Amino acid sequence: MTAEPIVVVGGGLAAARAVSTLREEGYDGDLVIVTSEPHLPYERPPLSKDYLRGHGERGAMFPFDDDWYRSHDVEVRTHATAVGLAPDDHRVTLADGSTLPFGKLLLATGSTPRTLPIPGVDLRGVHLLRTLDDADRLAGVLLRSALDGVDGTGPREGAVSVAVIGDGWIGLEVAASARQLGLEVTVIGRSAHPLSRVLGPEMGEVYARAHERHGVRLRRRADVVGLTGQGGRVTGVDLADGSHVDAEAVVIGVGASPNVGLAASAGLSLRPAAEGGGVVVDATLRTTHPDIWAAGDIASIPSATYGRPLRVEHWARANDSGPHAARAMLGAGDAYDVLPYFYSDQYDLGMEYTGFVDGPGGYDEVVVSGSVDDGEAFAFWLRGGAVQAGMGLNVWDRMPEVERMIRAATPPTRAALTSFV
Ligand code: FAD
Ligand code: NAP
Repeated sequence: MTAEPIVVVGGGLAAARAVSTLREEGYDGDLVIVTSEPHLPYERPPLSKDYLRGHGERGAMFPFDDDWYRSHDVEVRTHATAVGLAPDDHRVTLADGSTLPFGKLLLATGSTPRTLPIPGVDLRGVHLLRTLDDADRLAGVLLRSALDGVDGTGPREGAVSVAVIGDGWIGLEVAASARQLGLEVTVIGRSAHPLSRVLGPEMGEVYARAHERHGVRLRRRADVVGLTGQGGRVTGVDLADGSHVDAEAVVIGVGASPNVGLAASAGLSLRPAAEGGGVVVDATLRTTHPDIWAAGDIASIPSATYGRPLRVEHWARANDSGPHAARAMLGAGDAYDVLPYFYSDQYDLGMEYTGFVDGPGGYDEVVVSGSVDDGEAFAFWLRGGAVQAGMGLNVWDRMPEVERMIRAATPPTRAALTSFV
């Protein structure tokens, strides 16, 4: 082994992909992943989808198994949280007081789910969903509820009720999974349409209709003021309009915050929250320290296409920025130039999306091709005629064409968009 160890702080998908690329590219020095979790790096998308419904093999979520890390000489320190970073001393301090020297460091610390500062959030039966352990706890409740009732007293009249606070991706995917298990589900959202921040009202309403069709109750423009409980267990959600939603289980999905504390404490530059937050990196994913890179959810990466830095919390970003940072750590100088991409599966509605819309005011028109009602359609978000993003609903493998439209100097014609599907 050569002298200069590479340390990766964070044990998610970005970390796993980074270490595999380092080995593929011939790096043969010491390589260590430090992760707070008790598990090897895994992928999170199944946690709100098939895995939550009791389907899907647990092992399939792990990009690499124990044997792979062993045979590639990658040390994975689980249950290990990095609490200090001294960039100029090239040292990371772990929670147990030990230190790790590094030559180069990758920060891939991901995100932490937000909670709500309201009475009752600590009651039993209130869930956040980020980790495999969170998913095991929630799946246990949902699956048991589907069979026995949440208190384990056995089959009974009426389905168990689940309230989901937040109408973003976690909220809707968990709602779909719980409905598919036969539970009664209420989604409580603050705005008029679910997913409105990302999709806007037009396509948000498509998701609203899909959920209502499947029997989910949507409470729109609803502010949660507290959770009620009995005997330490949650019984429901109080709303600001004085109404109450009964619930034997509550899932809070109100967004996630990037884990930038370590970077901040080390004096690395952070992007202001108003510009998306995260750790400032250049186009090679190098932070403001020459020996430290960042990837995945925390990285705020310049985008030549959109003319601004983007920080996105997507599986694909972890999957490709981890390898990009790894190659940069070995000396590659090319710019990261990948458009944001994500997908979601809810009931029979599969979607994939590429591009970026800068908030609700980031587009002036949505052009739809195909038939949303028939469940096969494409939506394009336009600004000044230029395509900002495109989303396929049950239409697959068209992302490269959308990417070309987004990058094109001349916008596509309206006919090209409306006849796309
Ligand atoms: P993470 O996956 O968050 O991993 C970071 C890891 O670092 C964690 O294990 C954390 O414990 C550890 N860590 C943090 N700080 C420290 C520290 N100081 N010391 C040591 N370890 C530390 N995206 C999609 O595009 N499509 C989907 O369908 C989709 N579904 C999702 C479903 C769920 C339930 C969730 C939670 C997310 C989903 N996402 C989806 C988002 C996607 O999973 C994330 O964007 C991705 O996980 C980010 O990867 P990452 O490696 O940057 O960070
Ligand atoms: P999210 O998609 O950002 O959605 C957060 C939701 O919470 C929004 O609907 C938001 O509503 C709402 N909200 C915020 N503050 C609230 C409050 N105080 N009270 C009530 N509602 C509030 O985040 P998420 O669903 O929690 O998911 C967490 C992370 O996992 C995100 O990074 C997400 O992208 C990722 N994820 C992705 C997928 C996917 O891509 N398929 C699936 C699951 C998770 P407003 O918009 O009205 O503020």
